Amino acid sequence: MGIEEQLPSGIALTSVENVLGLARKHSQFPVTMGLACCAIEMMAAGTPRFDMARFGLEVFRASPRHSDLMIISGRVSQKMAPIVRNVYDSMPEPKWVISMGACASSGGMFNNYAIVQGADHIVPVDVYLPGCPPRPEALIHAILTLREQIGKEPLGANREKIARAAEKAALEATPTHQMKGLLA
Ligand code: SF4
Repeated sequence: MGIEEQLPSGIALTSVENVLGLARKHSQFPVTMGLACCAIEMMAAGTPRFDMARFGLEVFRASPRHSDLMIISGRVSQKMAPIVRNVYDSMPEPKWVISMGACASSGGMFNNYAIVQGADHIVPVDVYLPGCPPRPEALIHAILTLREQIGKEPLGANREKIARAAEKAALEATPTHQMKGLLA
């Protein structure tokens, strides 16, 4: 049955949340946050071969104030960690984070004191992208996955509450260097 039959008055009523979710989901502006080799794959995603412009997000912004998406591409050193957090804090709400690659997500092969063992110890991560390095298609897939999440997210204070809860859980998690098992 078409929408016109369901709504004879011809007015499609929907919640403001759904409309804003649709707008947000299609309007990411990523901030430049290339930290290591994964960033080369991220740059490749913007080239004509992979063409992330098809999804309207090839314009990486050099200012966090213009951005709502941080793609952490590469390992995060202890020295870089406060800068990553500073850039994240400078981005306006609502904002999202993709952790690109094994190093950003878990420290990867760098299980040592110099590398943060997971970007979620610094900022709340929405999507983890595995691989070393993930291919540009995988990054595009991660962005599309994030978009699906964004479309269903609640607005305003709720969104901030979710981000703060994810952040608290990550900060309270056991760092990988203290975990026993394969790494110990
Ligand atoms: S995951 Fe692999 S490609 Fe990405 S930063 Fe780490 S070592 Fe480099």
